[in-house]
Amino acid sequence: MTIIGVLALQGDFIEHESMLRRLGVVTRQVRSAEDLRGLDGLIIPGGESTTFCRLMEDFKLYEPVGAFVKTGAPVWGTCAGMIVLARNASDLDFPTLEALDMEILRNAYGRQVDSFESDLDVPELGGEPFHAVFIRAPVVASVGPGVEVMASTRNDAAGRDEPVAVRQGSVIATSFHPELTNDERFHRYFLDLVRSSGRSAGSK
Ligand code: GLN
Repeated sequence: MTIIGVLALQGDFIEHESMLRRLGVVTRQVRSAEDLRGLDGLIIPGGESTTFCRLMEDFKLYEPVGAFVKTGAPVWGTCAGMIVLARNASDLDFPTLEALDMEILRNAYGRQVDSFESDLDVPELGGEPFHAVFIRAPVVASVGPGVEVMASTRNDAAGRDEPVAVRQGSVIATSFHPELTNDERFHRYFLDLVRSSGRSAGSK
């Protein structure tokens, strides 16, 4: 049996859980170190990264979540979750988990495009483009050599393509919100990662 935890301090954790349940997966809301025990993977959802970090501090979750990531278990951050996983994020008065070697600029898509939608080419998912919903999304300003860019989008204001989905080992992050669409492919991709990591709870 596969059990996926969803950090449930703030943000759209319910939407991630519904998507995972639709795919037949058992989910667990994570609010304490104890809740991390026996999980096969963890999702850090979208929300507001400053609030997230403050609550992670209040709930004493920095150290346990950081330790969970270091075990090599698959972890996926969406939007604010991506910010929390990055090596470095602008305008964030809290430490990040430094699980992905990349620099983030928070809220940097500019006011007129705070929220937008875009059809992304994501080769790993195959088939149709992925319709991505961005909500006050972070900009990935740079990635280190160990980071694989799974999808990018054109930032006309900046005049360049910027990564919007990345992977480094067992950690993935998307600056958009697959949990707010009906497209299950990103959740399936994450579950494949969990299953191929051989960490299925049933096998422990
Ligand atoms: N703008 C938010 C932040 O900086 C992220 C938005 C989101 O998760 N949808 O934390």
